[in-house]
Amino acid sequence: MSTANELLKQRADRVFCPTYARYPAAMVSGSGCRLTDADGRTYLDFLSGIAVCGLGHCYPLVTEAICRQAGKLVHVSNLYYTEPQTELAELLVAASFADKVFLANSGAEANEAAIKLARIASAPERYEIISLAGSFHGRTLATVAATGQPKFHAGFEPLPAGFVHVPFDDIGAIEAAINERTCAVLCEPLQGEGGVRPLSRDYLQAIRQLCDDRGLHLIFDEVQTGMGRTGTLFAYEQLGITPDIMSVAKALGNGLPIGAMLTTDRLAASLTPGTHASTFGGNPVAAAAAVAVLQTMQGDGFLPEVRAKGDYFRQQLAGLVERFPGICAGVRGLGLICGLVLTEAGTARGGAIVNAMFDKGFLMNFAGNVALRFVPPLIVERADIDLLIEALAEVLADQA
Ligand SMILES: *Cc1c(COP(=O)(O)O)cnc(C)c1O
Repeated sequence: MSTANELLKQRADRVFCPTYARYPAAMVSGSGCRLTDADGRTYLDFLSGIAVCGLGHCYPLVTEAICRQAGKLVHVSNLYYTEPQTELAELLVAASFADKVFLANSGAEANEAAIKLARIASAPERYEIISLAGSFHGRTLATVAATGQPKFHAGFEPLPAGFVHVPFDDIGAIEAAINERTCAVLCEPLQGEGGVRPLSRDYLQAIRQLCDDRGLHLIFDEVQTGMGRTGTLFAYEQLGITPDIMSVAKALGNGLPIGAMLTTDRLAASLTPGTHASTFGGNPVAAAAAVAVLQTMQGDGFLPEVRAKGDYFRQQLAGLVERFPGICAGVRGLGLICGLVLTEAGTARGGAIVNAMFDKGFLMNFAGNVALRFVPPLIVERADIDLLIEALAEVLADQA
C-alpha cells in the first residue's frame, strides 16, 4: 500500500519539470522548528526552507499580518501606493546604511536590480562586474553569469556578457581584474551555497578600499546572510564596512516571496522612472509579512540571542570534530548559519549523512560539496540543538 507521501510524489513527478531532486516527504504543516509530513511524521527543521523561515514556521505575528492584509487588499501593482510596502521600506532604510529601496520577489531579482543599478549608475563603457569563485547569486541568466561556480553555467551559454570571476580570498586577483570596463565588485559577506565560507574581515575591508580607490560600486549579496541570520540584522554590520548596494530576500518575508535591493540616495538617483520595475514587487501581503518580521527581529534581545545560540551550536559542533576527526575537519559560520566542514574522506559521505539524518527526522543539507549546513529558524532552542547534535553523533559514528 502506498503512503500519502508516495502518492503525492507520484503525482508531482508526472507534472513537474524534473529540476528538483527532492526528499521523499510531502510537508503539510509546520510550527516553530517542526514540520509534519503527509504520513504524520515530524521533522526538526535545521534548514528553514533554505534560510527563509527565520522566525520558524507559521510564526503567529506573521500569520496574523498575512491574514489581516489578505482580507483587505492583495495586489494593485506599483502604479499606486500602498502602506505595507512603504512601511517596509521605511523600516529597511532606518535599519541599514541605505536611503532608498527597490522591492522585488526573490533573491535573484533583488540581485538583478543590484546589477542593473551598478551599470546604470556608471559611465556607459563601464559595465563589468567582478564576483568571486564559489559564489552563488541566483538562477536567472544574469545572476547565473555572476555566480562563480561553473556547474551552474553548463548548458546555458552564451551567458550575458560583463561578468568576471576571480579566485577566493585573493585581493591581488581582484585588483588585476579591474580595467576600464569595471563598474562593481559583487560578493556575499559569507558564502552560503558555497559551503558556509566566511570572507575574512581583512579581505572585505581591502575590497572596500579597492572599490573606493578605483571608483567602483561594492555590492553585497545578503540574500542568505541578511535578516538576522548572522546575529545582526545584516552581516555587514559586523565587518566595519558598508556596501553601496545590498540585496536581501530569503528570510525577509519569513516564507512569502519578497526581496529588496537597498542603496544610497546618490546611486538610486540613476534609477529614474521606467528604468526598472516589477509587477508584483512589494506586493502588500508579502510586504505586511516582512514588516512583522523586521519588527520582531528588532525586538529587545532577539539578535543577541541569535549570536549566543550560534556560539553554543558551534561549540557543540566542535565537539563532533574532536570525536570524529576522520570525517569532520572543522566548524565555521556566523550567528545561526553554521557549517560542519568535512574532511576529504568525509565529503564522499556528505550526501549519505544528510540522508541518514533525514531518516532520523532532522532536516539539513550539504553545501558546496564541503560542509554540512545548518540554518535553523532563529527561534531554535538549545534543547533542539542538543537533539540534532545527538542524532548527528550517532550518524557520524555509523559512518566512521
Ligand atoms: C538563495 C540565494 C540567492 C537566490 O535567491 P532566490 O530567491 O532563489 O532567487 C541569491 N544569492 C544568495 C547568496 C542566495 O543564498
